[in-house]
Amino acid sequence: MRQSGKLEYGGRRGPQRTCVGCRVRTAKSELLRLVLVGDHVVPDLRGRLPGRGASLHPALSCLELAERRRAFLRAFRVPGPLDVSPVRAHLEENPMSCRTPS
Ligand SMILES: [Zn+2]
Repeated sequence: MRQSGKLEYGGRRGPQRTCVGCRVRTAKSELLRLVLVGDHVVPDLRGRLPGRGASLHPALSCLELAERRRAFLRAFRVPGPLDVSPVRAHLEENPMSCRTPS
């Protein structure tokens, strides 16, 4: 049976998002939501900032992948260039336990 709308994976609980860096689908709660403020990509730490968001593992490796792929330009639908230094600074100051190995 096909459901209209998005695909659901049976058995998984909770919303999932795709990391814009490594493209792995992960529980939304494990990803950092990023939003665009002007030309700056900033972490939406409280999940309250309005606008289109992008999801990223809280890992510098994923940030670098996303930059290399210009994934933020696609995620935010802007021509760029974008400044991701707020995200980088956040990740450097708050290294998370679930960093992806390089
Ligand atoms: Zn990732």
